Amino acid sequence: SLRGSGDYTGKTYDPAADRDAPDRVALLGELRQALDADDQIVVHYQPKVAVTDGRLVGVEALVRWEHPQRGRIAPDAFIPIAENTTLIRTLTTKVMTAAITQTRAWAANGLHIPVAVNLSARCLTDPDLPHQVLALLAANAVPPSLLHLEITESAVMTDPQRAMLVLRDLRDAGIQLSLDDFGTGHSSMSYLQRLPVDELKIDRSFIKDLVTNRGDQVLVRSLIDLAHNLGLRVVAEGVEDEQSLGLLRELGCDVAQGYHLGRPAPASALDLQRAAVAARCGGRALRW
Ligand code: C2E
Ligand code: MG
Ligand code: MG
Ligand code: MG
Repeated sequence: SLRGSGDYTGKTYDPAADRDAPDRVALLGELRQALDADDQIVVHYQPKVAVTDGRLVGVEALVRWEHPQRGRIAPDAFIPIAENTTLIRTLTTKVMTAAITQTRAWAANGLHIPVAVNLSARCLTDPDLPHQVLALLAANAVPPSLLHLEITESAVMTDPQRAMLVLRDLRDAGIQLSLDDFGTGHSSMSYLQRLPVDELKIDRSFIKDLVTNRGDQVLVRSLIDLAHNLGLRVVAEGVEDEQSLGLLRELGCDVAQGYHLGRPAPASALDLQRAAVAARCGGRALRW
């Protein structure tokens, strides 16, 4: 499925609806070319907002493929294919470079917010990754504290021992780690406690019916308490309305992300979004 198409503008390419949809091999070939081009692989940014006062506390970098013939392709349609090949490394480097460059530009304009980049399983077991990331940060004079990396439990589980070494190196260097899509994977409590992470992101599937579903409320409350007891910050993914945000505030959730707070958009649109969110939040103290 093309979950969360991040449809900032226009419609997103849907391979299921395309009678001439390319097979995986063809798509990989096209992706290889896209990575060599300048303008096909682009990064959008989605706000992460403090639940208490609406402060902008960071952004998540989300990749999009602007295919010259097929239109925009969402990451779920090509990341899993790229993950089986070394192309995922090229892609990750490209996204990371864009995100770090953008973060430097924001910082130069007085906006000191961390950018979160998603890491796939194959990158997590690459022992060179920490060194490469730190070199990229240094080259752009961006402090490691302004880079967060989002990982999933299932990615860690691919090779837990090697992943743990990479994660420790990253964290020792001052890069914060975030556990993405929490609740959808193995969700072994013992692993959660051993993983060197700073933040837990509750998966959208637990948030989308939060207002009406008592079971989800109980679950989300428990996850927030669990995370806090482990000293972790909690992010709710996929917050789509004001009621859900209010409920998350009552439950003590720290950070919210979702269409209600801002859709993934090009960096240039972030200022426009700030104005829109500020207007929508009306009386409530809102400091972006
Ligand atoms: P994710 O990291 O869990 O990112 C959140 C996804 O939920 C994004 O989908 C985002 O657009 C979408 N989303 C955010 N708020 C809402 C909301 O309120 N409602 C709904 N329905 N959806 C919302 P997107 O951009 O299509 O990305 C999908 C997944 O692709 C990401 O899930 C992440 O796992 C992966 N991904 C994206 N960019 C990268 C990347 O640069 N590298 C890697 N390795 N994976 C990436
Ligand atoms: Mg993520
Ligand atoms: Mg997620
Ligand atoms: Mg995900």
